[in-house]
Amino acid sequence: MANHRTSRRDFLKLSAAVPAALALGASDARAQAVLLAPTPSCPDPSAPTPRQTAGPFYKPASPRRGSFLEPGMKGTPIVLTGTVLSTACKPVTGALVDFWQADDAGVYDNAGYRLRGHQFTDDQGRYRLETIVPGHYPGRTRHFHVNVQAPTRPVLTTQLYFPADPANQRDVIFRSDLLIKMTDAPGARSGTFDFVLDLTNSRRSPRRS
Ligand code: FE
Repeated sequence: MANHRTSRRDFLKLSAAVPAALALGASDARAQAVLLAPTPSCPDPSAPTPRQTAGPFYKPASPRRGSFLEPGMKGTPIVLTGTVLSTACKPVTGALVDFWQADDAGVYDNAGYRLRGHQFTDDQGRYRLETIVPGHYPGRTRHFHVNVQAPTRPVLTTQLYFPADPANQRDVIFRSDLLIKMTDAPGARSGTFDFVLDLTNSRRSPRRS
């Protein structure tokens, strides 16, 4: 009997909680839908992102940050997002993503860390950077430089490019498979690029940050 009463009491408590639980469930489902929306398509999961030269302007020990924007900074703001994936199309959590770039006039900050910074991918392998569109400089089309590194794995150094830039065709190292997919809305530039890392490589190297 005691058990029965306890069970009944618990049942009543549960019943009272059900509407709240249902409401929470619905909002969780909505939140989940929002979180799952950017699931990568993995059109060619067997192809790792190509490597490219770091060039002469890389600096180690960049600050950890998701935005390079500063008051008074000239240029066109852009939000770059994406996912770091393995060649098996699994998101890589805690991957280092370290960007550096020229400013609107095509100039790198070699004295400080303006337009340089690193972050780590979230539990779904995602990164997000707020910055400006990099300018051209002699011999180069617009590009971001980036190091991407899964925990304890080798660094992938590469560059990302902008579609429909006439200077792409004059840049000898431009690659169309490193083009950002632009997802602009009116008045706000945005783009996405998913990095694919070959994690079957057994070489290990210390983390750069
Ligand atoms: Fe460069």
